[in-house]
Amino acid sequence: MRAVVLKGVREVAVEDVPDPVIESPTDAIVRITSAAICGSDLHMFAGRTLAPPGLVLGHEPLGVVEEVGSAVEGVRRGDRVVVPFNVSCGVCFNCRRGYTSACLAVESDSAGGAYGYVGMGPYRGAQAEYLRVPFAERNCLKVPGTPGDEWEDDFVLLADVFPTGWYANDLAGVGGESTVAVFGAGPVGLLAAHSAILRSASEIYVVDGIDERLAKAEELGAHPVDFRRGDPVEQILALRRRRTSGRLAPGEEKMMGVMCGIEAVGYQATDWNAPSRENPSVVLEDLIRLLNPTGRIGSVGLYVPNDPGGINPHAKRGEFRLSFGKLWEKGLSLGTGQTPVARYAPMLIDRIVRGASKPSFLVSHRLPLEDAPMAYAKCERRVEGYTKVILAPGMERSR
Ligand SMILES: [Zn+2]
Ligand SMILES: [Zn+2]
Repeated sequence: MRAVVLKGVREVAVEDVPDPVIESPTDAIVRITSAAICGSDLHMFAGRTLAPPGLVLGHEPLGVVEEVGSAVEGVRRGDRVVVPFNVSCGVCFNCRRGYTSACLAVESDSAGGAYGYVGMGPYRGAQAEYLRVPFAERNCLKVPGTPGDEWEDDFVLLADVFPTGWYANDLAGVGGESTVAVFGAGPVGLLAAHSAILRSASEIYVVDGIDERLAKAEELGAHPVDFRRGDPVEQILALRRRRTSGRLAPGEEKMMGVMCGIEAVGYQATDWNAPSRENPSVVLEDLIRLLNPTGRIGSVGLYVPNDPGGINPHAKRGEFRLSFGKLWEKGLSLGTGQTPVARYAPMLIDRIVRGASKPSFLVSHRLPLEDAPMAYAKCERRVEGYTKVILAPGMERSR
């Protein structure tokens, strides 16, 4: 079969690799109809992880079950399924508590596994014609409709980015009437803002430095904040002051920030103070400054313990300076980590099917699998509107 293979720094190729086969009676083989490129794939593409050459990439699959192992009863050949990026067993201590992102039964360096990801186990990636799905009853989530229908680009976002946007809201404690700041308007940031709107937040600020992303945030109903115009924290505080002037009780001026902060950027963050420079902790520092006492931060942008391209010896080991004293003084909570997708996807499937959400608003391109090298290069440079790309193995290349 054809698959997207990491070849080196800023180099991927579409190559022939062996077809996956049923290795365990609990496996299924899924024929992929859509597989998205994720921001976290781009860290590997850019050489900013220890991902080895030869890795088949991709962890955001939607497809149709082609074959199941003898122990699989809950899904059948022909079922249309979305596959959460977490490989999980469903029955270990962490899976039973809902933390499928920290499954103890998958073979990886830490708790939790994923397809096509460095350090997350031996599971081959999903940017391919077929994918082997372990523990298929747990990891194949059935969705309605047929391949290529009006939900194709929505359902594929349930493998990672939509549940991750929703999870960020959980970590940040977003509910009705919340004030929310989302840093980063890539796919996860935009879906975090979209989720905050679905959760009836009252004020949502979205910080980024790319025009088309800020425009999308505004279309959603959030306040766009352009960090190229200066300190995003000061900009949000100024907007908040205008909104609340004349109606504050004594002492409430100490609550001029927001209650909920979402970090959707990760370690390759741009420093608004010096846009040519990377600063892996700038967003967390901004959130510590911006949040009101007792507020909560949800950090879902990717951080890694080994970064060959880190800006200094500490950053190479995933160590950053952080104003922990201020965070503690304010009594802030900081939630981090990968999303347990299986906990959220069924509820989000319902929202999509009943027309209450159309997350595919952020899909910019749907391309044949063979176009992956071009798509990776453009996504990484964030050019020509390449925000969220879906690779479609069955799609013919135009000439
Ligand atoms: Zn992803
Ligand atoms: Zn488990």
